[in-house]
Amino acid sequence: MISGPANAASRKAILALAESPRLDTLVRKHGMRLGAARFVAGESLDQLVPVLRRLNEQGLLTNTTLLGEHVHTPDESRAVVRAYREILDRIAAESLKTNVALKLTHLGLDLDEQLAYENVSTLIEHAARLGNFVRMDMEESRWVDATLRIYQRLREAGHENTGTVLQSYLYRTEADLESMLDLKPNLRFVKGAYLEPPDMAYPDKADVDAAYARLVERSLRDGGFTAIATHDEQLIDHAIAFAEREGIPRERFQFQMLYGVRPQLQLDLVKRGFAVLVATPFGPDWYRYLMRRLAERPANTFFFLKNLVRG
Ligand SMILES: Cc1cc2nc3c(=O)[nH]c(=O)nc-3n(C[C@H](O)[C@H](O)[C@H](O)COP(=O)(O)OP(=O)(O)OC[C@H]3O[C@@H](n4cnc5c(N)ncnc54)[C@H](O)[C@@H]3O)c2cc1C
Repeated sequence: MISGPANAASRKAILALAESPRLDTLVRKHGMRLGAARFVAGESLDQLVPVLRRLNEQGLLTNTTLLGEHVHTPDESRAVVRAYREILDRIAAESLKTNVALKLTHLGLDLDEQLAYENVSTLIEHAARLGNFVRMDMEESRWVDATLRIYQRLREAGHENTGTVLQSYLYRTEADLESMLDLKPNLRFVKGAYLEPPDMAYPDKADVDAAYARLVERSLRDGGFTAIATHDEQLIDHAIAFAEREGIPRERFQFQMLYGVRPQLQLDLVKRGFAVLVATPFGPDWYRYLMRRLAERPANTFFFLKNLVRG
């Protein structure tokens, strides 16, 4: 989330470019070399593992995501399930402190909700056998109902090693949180990364931030586990002060940030004794992910374009 009309316009333009297949082809050809590597930990599992190990050695927890979204056939979604099984096996074999965060559209949500449910259940069961955890990211607002339904079904089926995400920019989110509290949910809170219309989401950053603080307070006080996923130092300080005032034990929350964003802040929080997880995605399909990171901070785009022009 960024503020000001100029920034809002840049964000909109960059997010629109995220849907351009021509730019995807161009950027993908050179992008890793020119700057995407700042945000993406390689294109293969072999490139990912040493990055995760280095982060773990610095005292940081990690998660990983095989980048990609929106598959076209059930078979494609099952190939993604196989890839995630391999990732979970590799994490176990390498004894990494890494869990998995995935997108339900990558597991077929826009083909069939039941297919996505079965695919994610398979992975959660596999993760449970390995003592691991799977979080379902939150995507565009049209997927919120289905994602929350799937989370509820999984919990009712007895799966404890799973969590999901709530976005503070959506007007609906505070009511969603209230309706989930009985489950003692494991929730990651984010501001929200997609382009949403003003009838769904707060257009002003100040409102998004205020909602974020309220959501985190509510979850810390009455929820299950709270993952505070932001690089916003004011909101991080607010959460720490609230947790201390209310006597919330540190095992009940953690901070989460993105690979390549505010690395010093990540380490400073570890030094202060807080759990910090670095979301560390990988895979050849990194174009849309990169565009969302550029949209969050247009200065990143200038850096990237400068490198592109220099070749
Ligand atoms: C671990 C994690 C998981 C996420 N999962 C989801 C999800 O499932 N669904 C979803 O919609 N969104 C997700 N997001 C993205 C989120 O919604 C925001 O778009 C993103 O975190 C930027 O918002 P912010 O909270 O950092 O605050 P902002 O107010 O945008 O930024 C605060 C400060 O952080 C720094 N900063 C923020 N972003 C960047 C960047 N890209 N590059 C450099 N500096 C930056 C800047 O210094 C900025 O001033 C996730 C974010 C994190 C950290």
